[in-house]
Amino acid sequence: MTKTVKLFIDGEFVESKATQMIPVTNPATQEVIAETPCATNEEMVAAVESAKAAFKTWREVPVPERARLMMRYQALLKEHHDELATILAEESGKTFEDAKGDVWRGIEVVEQAANVPSLMMGESAENVARGIDTYSYIQPLGVCVGITPFNFPAMIPLWMFPLAIACGNTFILKPSEQNPLTPTRLAELFAAAGAPKGVLQVVHGGKEQVDHLLNDKDVKAISFVGSVPVAQYIYRTGTDNLKRVQAFAGAKNHSVIMPDANKQTVINNLVGASVGAAGQRCMAISVAVFVGKSQEWIDDLAVELAKVKPGVWTDKNAAYGPLVSPEAKQRVIDMIAKGKAEGADCLVDGTNCTVEGYPNGNWVGPTLFNNVTKEMSIYQQEIFGPVLCAMSVDTLDEALEIVNSNQYGNGTSIFTTNGAAARKYQHEVEVGQVGINIPIPVPLPFFSFTGWKNSFFGDLHAYGKQAIRFYSETKTITARWPESEIDNGPNMTIKLQ
Ligand code: NAD
Repeated sequence: MTKTVKLFIDGEFVESKATQMIPVTNPATQEVIAETPCATNEEMVAAVESAKAAFKTWREVPVPERARLMMRYQALLKEHHDELATILAEESGKTFEDAKGDVWRGIEVVEQAANVPSLMMGESAENVARGIDTYSYIQPLGVCVGITPFNFPAMIPLWMFPLAIACGNTFILKPSEQNPLTPTRLAELFAAAGAPKGVLQVVHGGKEQVDHLLNDKDVKAISFVGSVPVAQYIYRTGTDNLKRVQAFAGAKNHSVIMPDANKQTVINNLVGASVGAAGQRCMAISVAVFVGKSQEWIDDLAVELAKVKPGVWTDKNAAYGPLVSPEAKQRVIDMIAKGKAEGADCLVDGTNCTVEGYPNGNWVGPTLFNNVTKEMSIYQQEIFGPVLCAMSVDTLDEALEIVNSNQYGNGTSIFTTNGAAARKYQHEVEVGQVGINIPIPVPLPFFSFTGWKNSFFGDLHAYGKQAIRFYSETKTITARWPESEIDNGPNMTIKLQ
């Protein structure tokens, strides 16, 4: 019998009473490996009630103790690194090494959460007026919520709940219905690390369950990662309901290649950053903008891309895995067809990709388009597949114009040996995360993940100091402790210092 993914409510892993189930499939075979329940209204209410009740006691737990929970959790995650990567690879199709990277990037955020005491320090100033001191404390918000996408089932939940909980909040995670097994195992290990009852809840489902959380008056903050239309919906509804919202969304990341760059370095980097993880990364490079004479580089890139072979996660030689679902595969195939119809030159075509022994896998081979223009659908839309678009321009200014006029601003990179070109690019580009001779510039967790424009809706970003601010309130106290009674009568005006 197919197992149903459990809910984690009030400290217990429980079978849902849901009547609606969503199959979780192995993307290389279509075998149903589990079912995601769509939590009932009663279960959603119970999760929020438990998180609300747990907040009363969890917020009083001293901050070094909360940090110690994160240290134990970090150690357990490391101990179970391979096991987590196996679960992740089975449900997502990622190669084992890439699945390990997904888990590792999450572990790094837990390490950051273990530093929470110093991150929660406020500010103070003595004698802001005669005999008066001002100081501030960072206090938790209450019940926080995370809604996560399919493509990083370990890393993205770990961007959220460890930092929120370390700040003294309680947390409800609603993972992607497509890949719920890894987040559920993350929750089991969190409980095993000693997380008190109710501090973390995991509920499953889709829009209905998300809507419940968006409309629940006890939910104070919502972190979302996913596609642009859903991010906009979450941001609008959440802020309409007067909640704090951060919503990370889709992307179209450009890499600009200057003629002075090292050719082989560029080609190696573009291949990995464009089709790695089947292009299902929000920081994947999907557009390569070549400055100056480029035809030979693009031809060589095509040769290298054509050599890349997808495969199942157990195959050590597989460069990447299948797409997450048949629907995702069809969408990418349709986009490739559109690119050809709109006049781009398809130099490498991954449409009819097969993998021996896995006829039902959601395979798409590496795909390279040349002579792509800004008007084409393959340029305008996020494809979220192993497809790279190449464009050529004469100057860095023209490249900047292309990147800056794009609606997205998640990540970008420049390849060059010229410091002045790199400096100009980093300064003028309107994108939140910039790599210089680094294709996918994802900041480590002591910085923040800072997408711009339509790649992010909100103010404070994920992890780093910004996440601490997102998951907390600042309380500023102004105090006077006179040594003897002062009687100057009522004060009716603002006093000039
Ligand atoms: P998605 O938007 O389909 O789903 C994300 C989450 O929202 C899931 O938990 C899902 O159940 C929920 N959801 C889906 N439809 C909903 C609706 N109508 N109302 C309320 N909730 C709904 O995204 P996905 O396909 O799982 O993930 C891929 C997308 O995520 C890509 O666009 C990718 O660029 C983006 N992404 C962005 C970042 C980033 O940091 N900017 C990181 C990873 C992924």
